[in-house]
Amino acid sequence: MQTEMFEVDPLSDNRKLYVRAAEALAAGALVGIPTETVYGLGADALNPEAVARVFEAKGRPSFDPLILHVHHGKEVDKYTAIPEELKELVHTLASKFWPGPLTMVLPKADIIPDIVTSGLPTVAVRVSAHPAMRGVAKALGRPVAAPSANTSGRPSCTTAADVMGDMEGKIDAVVDGGPCQVGVESTILDLTCTPPRLLRPGGLPLEALEEVVGPVAVDKAVTGRLKDGEQPKAPGMKYRHYAPKAPVTVVTGPAEASARTILQMVKPGDGVICFDEFAELFKEQEVECLGPSQDKRIQAQRVFDALRAFDSKDAAQIYAQCPDSQGLGLAISNRLKKAAGFKTIAAGQKRVV
Ligand code: AMP
Ligand code: MG
Repeated sequence: MQTEMFEVDPLSDNRKLYVRAAEALAAGALVGIPTETVYGLGADALNPEAVARVFEAKGRPSFDPLILHVHHGKEVDKYTAIPEELKELVHTLASKFWPGPLTMVLPKADIIPDIVTSGLPTVAVRVSAHPAMRGVAKALGRPVAAPSANTSGRPSCTTAADVMGDMEGKIDAVVDGGPCQVGVESTILDLTCTPPRLLRPGGLPLEALEEVVGPVAVDKAVTGRLKDGEQPKAPGMKYRHYAPKAPVTVVTGPAEASARTILQMVKPGDGVICFDEFAELFKEQEVECLGPSQDKRIQAQRVFDALRAFDSKDAAQIYAQCPDSQGLGLAISNRLKKAAGFKTIAAGQKRVV
């Protein structure tokens, strides 16, 4: 199959392009579509055969459900069965954070095929801030089921070229809407339990959510590796993820101290993911910069690119500096730690925890 590239024109409304992409989806095709977080691999959510092809193209396990993208918050009622007592909270979250990087897990409506939710009674839904995802969903007139567009287990795609790298020949088209502004996936909040539970940290900081909903429980899978037999509430949080080919070790702690700890451990030819200020310390290593140590917005934009870059390098192993877990730091450090299979060292110690 030849994968077509549809170029978004930043100076036009791109309506024709969105209609073309929607027509392809309506015919059962798979299309890579940008969101503000990462690129999604879209299919018509109400077409089970098309959705099955998403799992196949990504090599995604069938137990890992997809996220539904709708073009407006008012669409959510059609595809979910929100209990009366939750309606006000869902409405408040929608009006505060949509369009944006928040995914809500809610009881599903019967119209959603079981393959989308991997048989779960709940469905994950969001409204993206990227006009392309909203434009295509609106033109389709149905929700787009779209997980991240990477091959399963690989770092997520933040450019159309990344999507081509993983999916060329396997999908029908990619909408090129430029690099993703946020760079890490959406924050997933399960609203079917009390208190609401953070299933995946993402582009919307936990602190911003807690200001609106009060205390939020954090799923165990967010901060550490689960034991054999333990089930996360977001099935996709279970397996090793975002991993470049070489093994990764994350070094936590204040930036200066973690840089020094890495310097003591690295060998020539190893790889280092570090904050910009420390790049020149690693003259004999392959270096990818994560952005300034004080700028988590840039670190979020850079993290997957930095991990992906090592696939075309020969590093024997990779050491990564890691921000603290305030704000976007929780999502950035979660992605790095997952890439490392949670192999983490605290700065100043050389012991793996
Ligand atoms: P991705 O599209 O790659 O960002 O993956 C979507 C994430 O959402 C995965 O971690 C899924 O396990 C999670 N997810 C999707 N639907 C549900 C649901 N109904 N309940 C809990 N987690 C979900
Ligand atoms: Mg993913």
